[in-house]
Amino acid sequence: MKKIVFATNNAHKLDEVRQMLGEKIEIYSLKDIRCNEEIAETSDTIEGNALQKARYVSEHYHIDCFADDTGLEVEALNGAPGIYSARYAEGSGHDSEANMRKLLKEMEHIDNRKARFRTVFALIINGKEHLFEGIVNGEIIRTRRGTSGFGYDPIFVPEGYTQTFAEMGNDLKNKISHRAIATQKLCKFLNK
Ligand code: IMP
Repeated sequence: MKKIVFATNNAHKLDEVRQMLGEKIEIYSLKDIRCNEEIAETSDTIEGNALQKARYVSEHYHIDCFADDTGLEVEALNGAPGIYSARYAEGSGHDSEANMRKLLKEMEHIDNRKARFRTVFALIINGKEHLFEGIVNGEIIRTRRGTSGFGYDPIFVPEGYTQTFAEMGNDLKNKISHRAIATQKLCKFLNK
């Protein structure tokens, strides 16, 4: 059986990919390979950060590997918060409330509400690098709606829908999300 590391310890992400890949490929987490160090994400692009994580594992552990990175890109803010999505609000590490508050404040007087979520998977297999991208276009609304999901979900309405990601619930969100699209592309490639 083929063995690949997914450079994450996020149980939800691991589950999603394992389910999509079926039984032909065995996915290991960072914990599984005893990689306990914090892997740097210092690139100025989403692609760069995903590649940085995948290269770290591939170079230090000599095993095929993939890593993901995601950002929310707001058109009127020239792509911000982008790579800073998790820590957009000053001093916040993954404080979704503070991040949304800051974004809504920044966009208070902006009429162009267009935004997109973008996920990139970087895969290194047999020494070769591959990138897979998933994008969901949508809009940032002015007040939070809904309670499911995480991050910016309560203020993001995907194109073609009226509910926010946080209102539609995880079942639907996980079928149409940026991460789902990128994951499908990765899995299609790996299952070839
Ligand atoms: P990560 O690369 O998956 O860790 O995502 C970086 C940050 O982007 C997260 O901390 C969230 O703030 C935001 N984010 C990523 N995916 C989503 C999503 O599906 N909904 C809302 N926010 C997200």
